[in-house]
Amino acid sequence: MIDGQNRVIDYLRVSVTDRCNLRCIYCMPEQGVESLPHDSILRYDEILRICRLMAGQGLRKVKITGGEPLVRRGIADLIRGIRGIAGIESVTLTTNGVLLAAKLDELVAAGIDSITVSLDTLDRQHYATLTRRDELPAVLAGLARLDDFPQLQRKINCVPLGDETDILAIAALAKEKPIHVRFIEVMPVGFARGLPFRSEAELRQLLEARWGGLVPCSERLGNGPARYVSLPGFCGKIGFISAISHRFCASCNRMRLTADGLLKGCLQYAGGINLKQMMVAGCDDAALLEAIRTAVAAKPAGHHFGEADAGGEDPRAMSQIGG
Ligand code: SAM
Ligand code: SF4
Repeated sequence: MIDGQNRVIDYLRVSVTDRCNLRCIYCMPEQGVESLPHDSILRYDEILRICRLMAGQGLRKVKITGGEPLVRRGIADLIRGIRGIAGIESVTLTTNGVLLAAKLDELVAAGIDSITVSLDTLDRQHYATLTRRDELPAVLAGLARLDDFPQLQRKINCVPLGDETDILAIAALAKEKPIHVRFIEVMPVGFARGLPFRSEAELRQLLEARWGGLVPCSERLGNGPARYVSLPGFCGKIGFISAISHRFCASCNRMRLTADGLLKGCLQYAGGINLKQMMVAGCDDAALLEAIRTAVAAKPAGHHFGEADAGGEDPRAMSQIGG
């Protein structure tokens, strides 16, 4: 698929639920957000139908996300189904890791290619403050279980909101194990507006002061915009996903499907086409394909984080959009 800016679109992020078992301060309020009504959530057969249609148009990689994808029942069946679609080369998952230890065997059996665990600190108290839940031991149990499956690519996503000790401790996870640690610049959407911002440049300085020179890595790892470096003596790489300081929109290859079926081109904008409503109305594959092409063609050229009053922003929480 080629969008209106001539970018090749071969990656779809599918949010399978808006619900979550954590309440990260940058993503959800303490009391949660009002859940979508059950019958407005895409059923698995509907997600598979959309993936099949898009795979016919060049979709190659699918990310399962949420909300927290592991809270949705039968998630391994969905992964198996998507993995079996002709043309799909990888199915990956982003999870907070709380339920990972319990679900990992079935995810692997279903054919998952890569698992990313979101983890911002290794300090139990800080973790409980950032996520409003005392679940760090469960997440660490899930991470440890990943060692049983060395064939799986594994990554950590860290939004660096903790102190320097937190950040260095998370980076050090890549020292002993072949796990890639990526630092994500906090994006000013939803509940993250106004949170302290730590730039990639600041993190690079911190890592260099502790471990020495960062060596840029030319190898492409994963589907997204992360740029990686190696550190002396580290098994895994350190990555930076810097939507703010290193805007990567010109090479963006992704579309997003929200839990209620909105196919949209950019995380920040409200626009898109609701494929769930079309399916409920009985639209055939040709009509859906036409809508998919229209949504892809209309993918915005780029985000406008940091620019005041640019308009058109998605008012929803990250847990609803699918981060
Ligand atoms: N619940 C799963 C998880 O936490 O990995 C999947 C969904 S979560 C919305 C996906 C990713 O988005 C997480 O790595 C989270 O840290 C990140 N995220 C959420 N809000 C963010 C924000 N405002 N800026 C940057 N990253 C954010
Ligand atoms: Fe839940 Fe993920 Fe949002 Fe945290 S970032 S509240 S784990 S959806």
